[in-house]
Amino acid sequence: MTGRVLVVGTGHAGATVAGLLRQAGHPGPVELFGDELDLPYQRPPLSKKFAEGQLEQWLRPAEFYREQDITVRLGEQVTAIDRDRRCVWTDAGRAHGYEHLILATGAEPRPLPVPGANLSGVVSLRTLADARVLRKCVEERRTLVIVGGGYIGLEVAAVARANDVAVTIVEREDRVLARVASPRLSEILAAHHQRQGTRIVTGADVVRIEGDDRVRAVVLGDGEEIPCEAVLVGIGATPRDRLAAEAGLVCAQGIVVDAQARTSDPHILAIGDVTRRPLSTGSLARLESIPSATEQAKQAVAAITGAPPVAPEVPWFWSDQFDLKLKIAGLVPPSPGTVLRGDPATGRFALFHHLGGIVAAVEAANSPAEFVAGKKFIASGTRIDPARLADAAVPVRDAVIQ
Ligand code: NAP
Repeated sequence: MTGRVLVVGTGHAGATVAGLLRQAGHPGPVELFGDELDLPYQRPPLSKKFAEGQLEQWLRPAEFYREQDITVRLGEQVTAIDRDRRCVWTDAGRAHGYEHLILATGAEPRPLPVPGANLSGVVSLRTLADARVLRKCVEERRTLVIVGGGYIGLEVAAVARANDVAVTIVEREDRVLARVASPRLSEILAAHHQRQGTRIVTGADVVRIEGDDRVRAVVLGDGEEIPCEAVLVGIGATPRDRLAAEAGLVCAQGIVVDAQARTSDPHILAIGDVTRRPLSTGSLARLESIPSATEQAKQAVAAITGAPPVAPEVPWFWSDQFDLKLKIAGLVPPSPGTVLRGDPATGRFALFHHLGGIVAAVEAANSPAEFVAGKKFIASGTRIDPARLADAAVPVRDAVIQ
């Protein structure tokens, strides 16, 4: 295939697929459209390291796009797809034709639907611009309430506490990271944050935010008022699938794709946070992570260039909180057996979750060897002996039942 490829979205997925197309030898034009004005940038530092150093960490320098003959159209928003004519329209009133269209439009922060959420000092976090605002709040040591105890909430809380900011996390579920971590990991992480001075309120709903022109307090359902000078809302993200839905592509809270990143239109692919993608178990899920975006970028390139399909990867992601480097692979099933290896008190431990000895997920903190072994076990359906795996004196490989 030598045709023109248009990529909509300059996040990790979009920028990666454009580079990989050239690496795979795609000879036709490649154009990247982004509604932000910045070159594609690294998003992890926005929640993990936003208080120190450079926020602007470009995925590739500007010369890369020139050298690779990738046209980058920053600040030009794609507003519609004409599938019959195979072109997109942009807010500049221009039509751009395509042979292949790759939608990598990402996700956007879910807004907090309560009075006062628009007050000055209430922020969310997705873009470089958001991170600059948050950095200022931390530099000014503004007392912070974080609504949502997900990865954004916990990572930002860790940075804020390390900079001596008073932090309260308000989470609606009965534990932090309820959507993405096992109950045991939630418990260990909550205790770690509490030891560093963060107050965590679970099972709580924010009913309004008080203030005049600036935020003054967050009010909970039970009437408690938590005084604050800044509020970070980190209550999840919704896929930006409007373009696709309006063009009639199959969407179900995210653009539905197959294992080659193909949508219901043979000329349109979709990758990254905006997709609902197949897992090795056969079910569909939204995996909002960089490794998933990278894997799907490879799938899309294979689909376009006619290369063999990409072997599926075990879902994984990472998080940094204080001194804990967390790496998580697989999806924790309901009611698994759980093996703890190591000691949470030392900051080095791994939780292996298994069904009848078959490892389904591993959650490792400062334990890269356990993470790598666990990911391999998941990929190969390896059976382990829980008692041997729990014994840190026994090498991980010796816990495998042959
Ligand atoms: P998240 O992981 O979905 O966590 C949001 C949490 O907020 C959920 O537990 C949610 O509970 C809770 N919540 C929802 N409404 C609430 C309310 N009104 N009051 C209090 N709590 C409420 O989302 P996130 O932390 O905002 O992250 C956004 C995106 O960035 C996600 O895609 C995330 O994966 C990504 N991210 C990833 C990393 C990483 O991989 N290390 C780091 C940062 C961000 P319910 O489940 O009940 O809605």
